[in-house]
Amino acid sequence: MSNQITYLNVVEVKQPVNVDLRAVIPTYSRMLSEGVLKEPIVVERATMVVLRGYETFEALKLLSAEKAPVLQVDSSKVKVKSLQAELKPITLETILMAGVRGPKLPYNSFNVQIDVEIPTVEVSLSELNVWRRVEGDRLRVYNDTLELLYKDWPTPLVRLRSFSSEKRSVWAKLEGANPYSNSVKDRIGWFMIMAALEDGRLGDILYEATSTNTGIAITAIANLLGRKTKLFIPKTIQKASDVFLKVLGADVVRVPVGLTVEAIEEVDAKSKAEGATHLNQFENDANLKVHLKYTANEIDEQLRSVRLKPDYIIGGLGTSGHMSAISIYFKSRYGSSVKVIGVQPAPNEVIPGIRRIETGMKWIHWTDFDQIIDVKRREAIEGVLTVARKEGLLIGLSAGAVFHAFTKVAEDEGVYVLVFPDTGYKYVEQFEEYFQSVG
Ligand code: PLP
Repeated sequence: MSNQITYLNVVEVKQPVNVDLRAVIPTYSRMLSEGVLKEPIVVERATMVVLRGYETFEALKLLSAEKAPVLQVDSSKVKVKSLQAELKPITLETILMAGVRGPKLPYNSFNVQIDVEIPTVEVSLSELNVWRRVEGDRLRVYNDTLELLYKDWPTPLVRLRSFSSEKRSVWAKLEGANPYSNSVKDRIGWFMIMAALEDGRLGDILYEATSTNTGIAITAIANLLGRKTKLFIPKTIQKASDVFLKVLGADVVRVPVGLTVEAIEEVDAKSKAEGATHLNQFENDANLKVHLKYTANEIDEQLRSVRLKPDYIIGGLGTSGHMSAISIYFKSRYGSSVKVIGVQPAPNEVIPGIRRIETGMKWIHWTDFDQIIDVKRREAIEGVLTVARKEGLLIGLSAGAVFHAFTKVAEDEGVYVLVFPDTGYKYVEQFEEYFQSVG
């Protein structure tokens, strides 16, 4: 009886530890590639607080599993040893409190010995409801705008007919369909704010360096939560952004840098000095997580619904959040047959939202990209025009760059997914300048 596996809802299980995302990725990848889970999570019987399998439990949450195989043990069978001498000694009591009430304990700060034989399991991810299709409300009626964001997912995946043929299908993932910033950045705005709220880190005012989209997303959600924002925008970004952000009530500061990432040190120092919360999209792992849990998984489920597996996935690199997650997910699940291509601006070119890898990105180094393609601003704009004139969709400049990269690698056969981060309406100034330059 004492070592029998039960299946609990993931929401009933309590995590006492702040697990490093980097340490979760190998478990997440292994589970995706094997399609099964081989060890149960061990929890304390009275509280359901995790005692072993911290990484596995995090990976299950990132896979949107509904259930977890669990071994419940009595606290009398558990011994705890602190590993970090500089912290207050950690006891079983401390761990249970951290799980039930928080705050969570640092990763690798203690060791747990369990005096019970732990059986192995062999449970498929489907049995844990990882692949349960998220059927939104068909009539799309939502209780508030946050539900409009996350309950309206997946964002559409649409076949681009003009570029497809009998042997080739080209699909666009339309991140512009997100409600606040009309961009992929709504996802990270939501996840970063929710993570800060859960950890009790969300202050009254949020500071962020942004090239517009993250700023809109964060301000929109901050407004719902009664918070204010102050946003730091590089001088290279279109003027219209100040107006959008002011309409939403943000305080906007233009900074004399070319790239958003060049402002983060200043924003970090200012937020510390002025008691603001700096979510920092460039470093915050909630960025990668939201794309592992939703964006990548959505593309997979959407393609599987039409019985396809991608050969190429092409997308732009800003923080590298969405494309790194897509690469980790697809390469884990399907191996190297899925080619992942990142798109960056050519040297000395400015394309809002994306930048060159050598300017420093975090998550891109956690995975493999098959190719990185340089695109000039003019080529990106011409990509926008081609898609608008063939498919009727007005996409953003970075999406235009993704389309241009597609034309560089496209062969006559295969399944191509192009991730379009936003729509074109914010970029009127750039289009106008382009039309003037071509006469
Ligand atoms: N395209 C646009 C328009 C963006 O705003 C961004 C992010 O700032 C990106 C592409 C790049 O996305 P990521 O930060 O996930 O690499």
